Amino acid sequence: MSALMHATDWQTQLAALGVMREQESMARHTTLAVGGPARWFFRPADRESLVAGISLCPSDIPIVPLGRGSNMLVPDGGLDAMVIDLSDLDTLVFDGCVVRAGAGVRMSRFARLCAEHGLTGCEFLATVPGDIGGGVAMNAGAFAQQISDTLVKADVLMRSGEVIELDAAALAMTYRHSVLPAQSLVLAAEFKLHPGHPDEVRERMRTMRRRRSATQPLALPNCGSVFKNPQGDHAARLVEAAGLKGFAIGGARISEQHANFIVNAGEASSADIVALIKRAQREVKERFDIDLEPEVRMIGEQL
Ligand SMILES: Cc1cc2nc3c(=O)[nH]c(=O)nc-3n(C[C@H](O)[C@H](O)[C@H](O)COP(=O)(O)OP(=O)(O)OC[C@H]3O[C@@H](n4cnc5c(N)ncnc54)[C@H](O)[C@@H]3O)c2cc1C
Repeated sequence: MSALMHATDWQTQLAALGVMREQESMARHTTLAVGGPARWFFRPADRESLVAGISLCPSDIPIVPLGRGSNMLVPDGGLDAMVIDLSDLDTLVFDGCVVRAGAGVRMSRFARLCAEHGLTGCEFLATVPGDIGGGVAMNAGAFAQQISDTLVKADVLMRSGEVIELDAAALAMTYRHSVLPAQSLVLAAEFKLHPGHPDEVRERMRTMRRRRSATQPLALPNCGSVFKNPQGDHAARLVEAAGLKGFAIGGARISEQHANFIVNAGEASSADIVALIKRAQREVKERFDIDLEPEVRMIGEQL
């Protein structure tokens, strides 16, 4: 039976603007490979379809923007929400040192093409497995660079269907955090980079990638750093010092290689991962009186 057999008018209209599904497993869309179904799942064909479609969706249904799901923890019970997959908003335009990218452009592609155009300032994005929209929402960063260093402005779609342009300053971006209006989505972002030599930019990216693969457990599903680094310290050091390296709950394990990574070592559930997060927070608090704040977005808690 088609998932949309009993579709109401708005669902049928959204289906004409892209892919529309019901009860879509979020384990398929998150790098941790856990999470129950999204009640509704919409993947607009392009920016225009999203802008036209957003106001068709009943206003009492919360929306959850989805990039590559590389920083998301979705509950096993799923999401009573409309997940909007932005991966087809993938246009990329170069104009001198100014680059405009759709929310669905992969950050690694963005970095590679910036290198080809002889632009420097975003090499680190070659090592972050998300999309531009998710990168802006999270103010992604690594190797002492972050998105906010080069972001000029973003196009933001409000729940009403209105598109507004926000300067980077209006997003009040801090360490792994941006302030976006409630229930809004980043549609596109504009960056200003600096001229650089393509070979030198590529070499810096290669060095960063090598460092990553030497230090991170990339063979198993994960979400990158689970906790933000507290001021003046490292979450990985604290979790390791609490004796939790290699500690497992169900199918979730604190990586032996990097203690700020939780890996899905097999059949982990979202609940296993949440339990491990809470255990690490408790041990670190008891031993060092430090509160570890999750970097991973625990989506169900935000709805
Ligand atoms: C192996 C690995 C390494 C990583 N290394 C790093 C690193 O070095 N530095 C770093 O900062 N992060 C790192 N991460 C985490 C992650 O890649 C980043 O946070 C990234 O920015 C998330 O992008 P995404 O598209 O996957 O976002 P998602 O995981 O899809 O979403 C993350 C959050 O942003 C929201 N969101 C997504 N798209 C939009 C949009 N268009 N508009 C509004 N909100 C949106 C989502 O609703 C969610 O709340 C790593 C992850 C992995 C798996």
